[in-house]
Amino acid sequence: MDRDSINIEEIVKKVLAGMSEQGSMTVSSAQGEIPKTARVAMLTGLESFTIKEYPIPELGDNDILVKVEGCGICGTDAHEYKRDPFGLIPVVLGHEGTGEIVRMGKNVRKDSAGKDLKVGDKVVSCMIFKDNPDITMFDLNKQNVGGADVYGLLPDDNLHFNGWFADYIVIRGGSTIFNVSDLDLYSRILIEPCAVLIHAVERAKTTGILRFNSRVVVQGCGPIGLICIAVLRTMGIENIVAIDGEQNRLDFALELGATKTVNFKEHQGLDALTAAVEKSYGGHLADFAFQCTGSPMGHANIYKFIRNGGGLCELGFFINGGDATINPHFDICAKEITVVGSWVYTLRDYATTFDFLKRAKGIGLPIDKLITHTYPLQEINEGLQTNLRMDGLKIAIINK
Ligand SMILES: [Zn+2]
Repeated sequence: MDRDSINIEEIVKKVLAGMSEQGSMTVSSAQGEIPKTARVAMLTGLESFTIKEYPIPELGDNDILVKVEGCGICGTDAHEYKRDPFGLIPVVLGHEGTGEIVRMGKNVRKDSAGKDLKVGDKVVSCMIFKDNPDITMFDLNKQNVGGADVYGLLPDDNLHFNGWFADYIVIRGGSTIFNVSDLDLYSRILIEPCAVLIHAVERAKTTGILRFNSRVVVQGCGPIGLICIAVLRTMGIENIVAIDGEQNRLDFALELGATKTVNFKEHQGLDALTAAVEKSYGGHLADFAFQCTGSPMGHANIYKFIRNGGGLCELGFFINGGDATINPHFDICAKEITVVGSWVYTLRDYATTFDFLKRAKGIGLPIDKLITHTYPLQEINEGLQTNLRMDGLKIAIINK
């Protein structure tokens, strides 16, 4: 295994080295069905996508043209759509996308894991390491995606095909790309959010507290909490209690592997809620908890559900959601709680996610049901509004 990793790492380094040279504009062309122009959904103002049509650009020798099949709408897209906190407008959003290679520059041979790439392969992209092409998925302890660029969160430029809410996307040399032809469309759309949970569980494992027989609490049953449950169940953890205030989400949590649920709306006050959690474990507190809500109150409360010497992984705050008040003596010191934070993922977690998705389906978890609504590209504003109303779980744009 180690030797294979080294060999693959060599290949990846060669591929990335090749990618950083800018060569002529020759392309090894596909079936010849590629149109001259194609659409992108450009966010041109707050809560306003405009469908724009641009010429498909010539490819460099290290570039890849991908025909987009679909892309999930992320919470980050919703924040950008509503408030533009990153100041990206005008921008083509969409980073949870996947599609088929229709044309490749002549230098492109392998994906970021050393797998062959050819026209017709289904792919996803991950990070873009413009400034540090030496980073590969085999470097442990390297930065998570928070330090890198990602397609779908790049400012508009003269190519325009920078995000997955589009008919086509141009994956430029120096980007990471994975051949995921062995995964179906919905699985491929779910890779990005699932990688967040693979990373969180890896972070949780560093505490040494999370074991097969652990009693685990997952608080918050939005897409992140639900996928958390599926990841835990897929890795063999049996005793999972899900907490949320929406009964339909709790019902789905059971389908995805939770053993018991607690609806916080049925319990008045923190003591009563803690007692309900304790009761669901037959009179025990949790060994480990995952905090998956974006609510500061959710963070403040969760310590009460954890036993002395237990652990907590906080992953609910992708963006600044405000301050939480805890009591350091009672919540952390006296109970000797080990706390880890988790944010996005590493390149290596991305590759682990492909196997997770296959295993989750293998044990019968209905992962596809996380995608509750789909819209065509021209109805992307409706898709975002559905996301903002929090009517469904994962909303996806599917191209026909
Ligand atoms: Zn995302």
